[in-house]
Amino acid sequence: MMTGKEYIESLKKYKPTIYFMGRRINSVVDEPMFRPHIHAAAMTYELAHDPRYEDIMTATSHITGEKINRFTHIHQSIEDLVKKVRMMRLLGQKTATCFQRCVGFDALNALYITTYDIDKKYGTEYHQRFIEYLKYVQKNDLMCVGAMTDVKGDRSLKPHQQKDPDLYVHIVEKREDGIVVRGAKAHMTGAVNSHEVIVMPTRALGPEDKDYAVSFAVPIDAEGLINVFARQTNDTRRLDGVIDCGNAKYGVVGGETLMIFNDVFVPWERVFMCGEYDFAGQLVEIFATYHRQNYGGCKVGVADVLIGATANIAEYNGVAKAPHIIDKLTEMMHLAETCWCCSLACSYEGYKTPSGAYVPNPLLANITKLNMTRFPYEWSRLAQDIAGGLVITAPSEKDYRNPEIGSLIEKYLKGVAEVPTEHRIRMFRLIENLAIGAQLPESMHGAGSPQAQKIMIWRRGNIEMKKDLAKIAAGIKPDEHFEKIVGKKEEEFFKDLFDKMNKKRSDREL
Ligand code: SF4
Repeated sequence: MMTGKEYIESLKKYKPTIYFMGRRINSVVDEPMFRPHIHAAAMTYELAHDPRYEDIMTATSHITGEKINRFTHIHQSIEDLVKKVRMMRLLGQKTATCFQRCVGFDALNALYITTYDIDKKYGTEYHQRFIEYLKYVQKNDLMCVGAMTDVKGDRSLKPHQQKDPDLYVHIVEKREDGIVVRGAKAHMTGAVNSHEVIVMPTRALGPEDKDYAVSFAVPIDAEGLINVFARQTNDTRRLDGVIDCGNAKYGVVGGETLMIFNDVFVPWERVFMCGEYDFAGQLVEIFATYHRQNYGGCKVGVADVLIGATANIAEYNGVAKAPHIIDKLTEMMHLAETCWCCSLACSYEGYKTPSGAYVPNPLLANITKLNMTRFPYEWSRLAQDIAGGLVITAPSEKDYRNPEIGSLIEKYLKGVAEVPTEHRIRMFRLIENLAIGAQLPESMHGAGSPQAQKIMIWRRGNIEMKKDLAKIAAGIKPDEHFEKIVGKKEEEFFKDLFDKMNKKRSDREL
C-alpha cells in the first residue's frame, strides 16, 4: 500500500494529456490548480497507514489474501459495506471535501458483479479478465476514475439516434488485438490525479446501441485520451494566497474534467463488456447504488466540519449561547445524522450477489442520495444564517496582510476580544468554501441528478404492495391474519358483531 507521499510520487510516472485555461499541463503534481485535489486523494492513502484507522481503511483481498487499501477491495460482507461508509465519513472529516477515489472503487465492484453475470449468460471470459485487472490495481494500489456519464448531446435521443454518433462513448473498430473507442465523458472526478480510467456505459441500451455497450480500462496517459480540467467558482484564489481559499490544503469538490476518447486503443485483456447491451442497465444501476450509498458518508463528514465551523464562528461572534443559535446548530446535526442513518441503513440492508460481492439495498441507497440533493442546502442555509454577512464580504488576505491597512482590518473585524481577527476571517472563508461554493451543486448532481433517484425509487418502491396493504386495511381485500385472529371471514365477523349489537339494542328497546 502506498503512503500519501508515495501516491503523489507515483503520479510523476504518468504523462497524461491535460489542458487547463488554454495551456497543456506538463506536470500534474506541480500544477497549483490541481494540488489541493491531489492532497485530498492522498489522504485515502495516508490514513491506511495510521493504526487508528487500519480497520476501516484496509481490507484483506479475497483474491490474493494480501492486505490492501479498502479503496481497491471487493465487498465480501455487510460489514464491508458498513466499513465503506464509515471510511467515507472519516475522510470527509479529514479533508472537508471530495477525496475522489470512491468512483473507481464503485466501478471495480459494479464490474466484478456484472462481468460475472455476463459470463454466466454468454459463456464469455470477462470475469477472469477483470479479476486479473483487479489484481493489478490491488497490487499497485492504484486510483481509478470511474467514467460513466457520457456527454449525451440531445437527451431526448438514444445514442445511435444522435446527429453526431460520438456523443456517447462507443466502439469504432474491432481488431484482432483489441478495440478502438471514441466519445467523451463529462464531470470526471479526480481524473487528472488518477492512474487508471474505468469506462462504463451511462444508460440502459437496446440492440441498436450495441456498439455503445462497452466497458474497459486504460491508463490515464493512454494515447488519444485527453482531459480538459474544469473551472470552479473562486478557483483562481488558489493563486492568491491561503486564507481566501477557505480550504487551501484540500480544495473544494473533486476537480472534474471533460474526458475525450479520441480513437483510443484498448487491448482485449482490458475489455470487460463488448456489445452485451442487455447488461448495460444492470451495470449502471449497480454502480449508481454503490455511489449513492456513499453520500451519507462523505458529505456528512464534510457537514461535520461545517457544523464545527458554524459553532466556532458563533463563538467568535459572541452569540454561541443564544437559544436560537443552539437550535439551528441542533437542526444542522439532525439533518446530517439523518443522512448518515440512510447510508448505514442501505449498507446493513445490503445483499450478496451471485458473484459473491455484496451490494447495498438499492431503494435505500437512492433515498440516501435524494436526501443529499436537499439537506445540504438546508444545513448550508443555516450556516450562512448563523455566520452573518462577513461570510461573503470579508476583505482579502492580501489586504489583511497589507501594512498600511492590515491593522485597521484587525481592529474593525474583531469579534470577541480573546479570538484573533485572523481566526475569525479564516472561519468565515471556510464556511464560504463549504456552504456557498461548488459543494452544493455537487450534492445535487454527483452520483446522478434527483430525477434519476426518483425513477429508481418509483421502480423499487413496490407501489403495488402498498396499494394492496391499503385494500386490506380498507376491507376491500381479505386480511388473512385478521381472519385467523377472529376465527372466521371478515364479513362474517362484522355481520355477527352487528347482529349481536342490534339484538341487544332491540332487547333494550323492548
Ligand atoms: Fe467519493 Fe463523495 Fe467525492 Fe463521490 S462525492 S467521489 S462519494 S467523496
